[in-house]
Amino acid sequence: MLITHDTECALSILVELLNTAPQACGSEQLADVPALSAFVVKQAISEIDSLGPADLAAVQALRGRLREVFSADSTEQAAELVNAVVAEAGTTPRLVNHDHHGWHIHYFAPHAAIGRHLAAELGMALAFIVMAGERERLRRCEAPDCARVFVDLSRNRSRRYCDSRTCGNRLHVAAYRARQRSADAAQEASAQETAAPETVPAGT
Ligand SMILES: [Zn+2]
Ligand SMILES: [Zn+2]
Repeated sequence: MLITHDTECALSILVELLNTAPQACGSEQLADVPALSAFVVKQAISEIDSLGPADLAAVQALRGRLREVFSADSTEQAAELVNAVVAEAGTTPRLVNHDHHGWHIHYFAPHAAIGRHLAAELGMALAFIVMAGERERLRRCEAPDCARVFVDLSRNRSRRYCDSRTCGNRLHVAAYRARQRSADAAQEASAQETAAPETVPAGT
């Protein structure tokens, strides 16, 4: 897959941003300007001069539009959504070398407001995924009660859960308990007749 390290970093911020939404995690994680400030610091988003309520509203709106790309029905629809986000961002690609990152491209205009900054950077990261024909890597967690998203960058595209330490494990435990329950039931049944062999799949 032709995805650069910079795109991978942007995709990581994208996933973190989408998973702050109430529909992903049950409550709004970007509820106020200080929460947005903390997000900017944690994700090391550069050239952000100031943040206010308008910035918060812009980021929340952008988040909804970016999430739509994950659930797009076709590549044409995904491309349309990405193009609209990137067009409004007013991208100005430029080579920069800051904080010992080496030369890389910033797609946002210098010191752009965070809404446009993220629209440019995250929109372009999605553009590269669509261009590479890798849209299927934009996934929603398969755990039944989880609506978090992730980008599957595994070699064999086998990732199913947003975070194997939580959703993946939780499902493993649930599958284990289900196997135990059916084993117990089978034992009881075998008192009357021979139980069928265990056929519950082991999961991943
Ligand atoms: Zn940079
Ligand atoms: Zn999950």
